[in-house]
Amino acid sequence: MFDALKTTTFAAAALAIATPVLADEVNVYSYRQPELIKPLTDAFTAETGVKVNVAYLNKGMIERLQSEGDRSPADVVLTVDISRLAAVVAAGLTQPVESATLTANVPAQYRDPDNQWYGLTTRARIVYASKDRVAEGEITTYEDLADPKWKGRICTRSGTHAYNIALTSAMIEHHGLEGAKTWLEGIKANLARKPQGNDRAQVKAIWAGECDVSIGNTYYMGKMLADEEQKAWADSVNVVFPTFEDAGTHVNISGVAMTKSSPNKDNALKFMEFLTSPQAQEIYAKANFEYPIAPGTKADPLVEGWGSFTADDTNLMTLAGHRSDALKITEEVDFDG
Ligand code: FE
Repeated sequence: MFDALKTTTFAAAALAIATPVLADEVNVYSYRQPELIKPLTDAFTAETGVKVNVAYLNKGMIERLQSEGDRSPADVVLTVDISRLAAVVAAGLTQPVESATLTANVPAQYRDPDNQWYGLTTRARIVYASKDRVAEGEITTYEDLADPKWKGRICTRSGTHAYNIALTSAMIEHHGLEGAKTWLEGIKANLARKPQGNDRAQVKAIWAGECDVSIGNTYYMGKMLADEEQKAWADSVNVVFPTFEDAGTHVNISGVAMTKSSPNKDNALKFMEFLTSPQAQEIYAKANFEYPIAPGTKADPLVEGWGSFTADDTNLMTLAGHRSDALKITEEVDFDG
C-alpha cells in the first residue's frame, strides 16, 4: 500500500517537473554535421526561445529509433539522400505533417507526396570535365557518358553508392529498366579504372591525368576550392550540368522528417517550418555549397557561378521506388568489378 502510494507520488512529481521542460525544447537526430546544423539551431532558438538538442549520428539512426520505440526522445530527423529519407519512412518511424508553410516553401518534387518528409536543400549530380582534354559542349547529357568516344576516360565512385544509385534510379525512370542497364554497361565499358574512392578522388584522378570525365556532386567543387591541397584538382576541371535527354539535371536532397513518436510535436513543427523558410535554407545551403529550394531563394555567389540548370522534376519518392531495381542492375552488369 505504502509502496504503491510512493510510486504514484513519484510519477506525479516527475510529470510535473517534466512537462514544462518538454514544452520548450525539440530533439533532433542528425546525420548532418554540427558545423552545418549549429548555425540553424542557434537562429531557431534566438527566434523562438525553444532549445534544440541535437544527437549527431554517423550511422544506425533507424536501429536507434526502432529500439527506443515510443519512448524515443527524438522529434525530428535530419539527413541527406532520398534513400535515407525513404528508409526512415519505410521503417514506419515518421508521421505525416500537414502545413501550409511547408507546402509553400518546398516545391512538390522535393517533398513526400504523403507529407512524411520535406526537402531543405538540393545538390546536383554533375560531370566534372578536364579543362585540357574535354571541349566545352562535348558532353551535355547523362546518356552521353555511355558513348564509346569516352572509352577509358571516365572515373567514378562505386556504382552502389547511394548517390549513384539515385542517378541510376532516375535513368530507370526516364529510359526503363533495360535502357538503364544498357546505359550502365556503356559507362562500365568506358571506365578508366575500377570504381573506387569518393567523388573528390575522381576529380583528383582527372587532375593526375588518369581520366578526363567524372561524376560527382556539385558541393564538392566548393569543398575542393576551400582546401589548399584540393584546389588544384578543382582548378583542372569544368563543372558541367548534364541533363537527361528528355528531362533536367539529376538532383538529390537533404531533408527533414518528424518522428512518429515525437514528444514535442508543436515545437517539432515550428522547427520544421523554420528550416524550410527561405532564410534558413539559404544559411543551410551556403554552409555546404548546396542549393536552397524555396521560391525566391539564391545559392551562394560561388555556387551560382558554376552555372544555372533546370532540375529533373521527377518526385524523389518515385526515384526511391526504383532503388532496388537500380541496385539489381548495377550488380548484374558487375559495375564495380
Ligand atoms: Fe557527399
